[in-house]
Amino acid sequence: MTVLVKPQKLADVKVREFSMLIDGKWVEGVEAGTIERVAPSHGVTVSRYKSATKDDAHRAIAAARKAFDTGHWPRMTAAERAGVLLKAADMISARADEIAYLDAIEAGKPITQTRGEIAGAVDIWRYAAALARDLHGESYNTLGEGTLGVVLREAIGVVSIITPWNFPFLIVSQKLPFALAAGCTAVVKPSELTSGSTLLLGEILMEAGVPAGVVNIIVGTGAEAGVPMTSHPDVDMVSFTGSTGVGRLTMANAAQTLKKVSLELGGKNPQIVFPDADLDAFVDAAVFGGYFNAGECCNAGSRLIVHREIVKDVTARIAALSEKVRVGDPLDPSTQVGAIITPQHLQKIQGYVSGAAGGGATVAHGGSQIDFGFGQFMAPTILSDVKPEMAVAREEIFGPVLSVLTFGKTEEAIQIANSVDYGLSAGVWSKDFDTCLTIGRRVRAGTIWMNTFMDGASELPFGGYRQSGLGRELGRHAVEDYTETKTLNMHIGARTGWWMPR
Ligand code: NDP
Repeated sequence: MTVLVKPQKLADVKVREFSMLIDGKWVEGVEAGTIERVAPSHGVTVSRYKSATKDDAHRAIAAARKAFDTGHWPRMTAAERAGVLLKAADMISARADEIAYLDAIEAGKPITQTRGEIAGAVDIWRYAAALARDLHGESYNTLGEGTLGVVLREAIGVVSIITPWNFPFLIVSQKLPFALAAGCTAVVKPSELTSGSTLLLGEILMEAGVPAGVVNIIVGTGAEAGVPMTSHPDVDMVSFTGSTGVGRLTMANAAQTLKKVSLELGGKNPQIVFPDADLDAFVDAAVFGGYFNAGECCNAGSRLIVHREIVKDVTARIAALSEKVRVGDPLDPSTQVGAIITPQHLQKIQGYVSGAAGGGATVAHGGSQIDFGFGQFMAPTILSDVKPEMAVAREEIFGPVLSVLTFGKTEEAIQIANSVDYGLSAGVWSKDFDTCLTIGRRVRAGTIWMNTFMDGASELPFGGYRQSGLGRELGRHAVEDYTETKTLNMHIGARTGWWMPR
């Protein structure tokens, strides 16, 4: 068994109430219903939101459109915009504890982890501020005596930003500061399950000096509030993070008006380990990659592709380390794995485990839910004897479940790694430089970790191949993603043309 950290009863829960931010004002919404968020770890209501209707989404889009077409934000200098982003970063840092608590209690994530995510987000806001001032186009003074070409980068316009529940504050911070740095205006919709921290961000941005209408935040279901954000003709771009299924819908809706679409979607990420690897380091990374964020992580290293010579030993070592993982109260600083986002999602995870066990896999560790009497928790689970064609080897489980597969030759490991629809990230473990580089070049994924797993930095682009998404976030081109390219083709001197003599 794992180490259980029973959640303490929440004394005097103060339910936080939020409205939505449209055109610089906190509003209740037209015919707004109410969304109650029940903490997945404690089973009590912790937040209450006004949920946006289609009309609210339209009002938010209209405000963003007006702020873009006639407002000051896209027209101010990049240095001024960077100043606002830096101020926002400082204010996020000052309110880090409050934001981290809200993400921990709404998402069920360990508090030490959410503190780390907020610190990471602060760094991204600062990085975006730096990039804002370096956004520039190109010039061509090489096109002949009579021609000068200038290539401009212009803000793309109104951006819809739609985010999931698993990293509420971090993911909005991978999008919004770059859109703002470019001079765009935005309508943001967080997941209805974890909207609190994004609304706190709205307060911060208003105070930091973001003008009214530049950032609008609506809460609501995807079907009601999200669909207009992806289909309305006044939206120029959609930046979406979420499941591959909804990503597909988003792209189809955006296609009606040919909007630019950026998609960060699911993953089924392999960690390939060779016998010559530092196996202590790998075992630690396998446990981290599988159970971090309760496995509710697009980057989860949920497929362990282990060389046959070492599979028995490695599986036993991962199981032994899994015993030590501390599961339970997200508010206890010693907890490593928190709650599962909803009861329905817990059922889905359990369905995958029982389906695999029924189909010939072995439950080598865990396999069942943990019952504290409230909330929903899943034991860290290892499935061995998994075959590449099984659902647990191909589909995103989004729970703390590791599937162990085996290989003999390098070519076989590459073939298994590339055999799924996803291509977000992968890890390779070997002391041999050639082995690491061969895997690094041949596995089709947006990030390949070598002898490490799930590290990252604001400077490094992130995104997926194939059905893991379209486009890249972070990195030095992140601001450019929110721009259009315009060519100024200029003629110098007397022009000779079609009818004129040359
Ligand atoms: P969903 O795709 O269910 O939802 C994501 C967001 O889209 C939510 O805000 C949701 O609203 C909204 N939405 C739902 N339906 C529509 C629609 N028809 N039109 C517009 N918006 C809609 O994902 P989850 O929230 O369940 O998040 C988990 C998924 O996110 C996983 O598959 C994971 O891999 C992926 N993910 C990818 C990352 C990456 O960078 N590649 C990072 C993190 C997560 P609501 O739920 O409120 O109805």
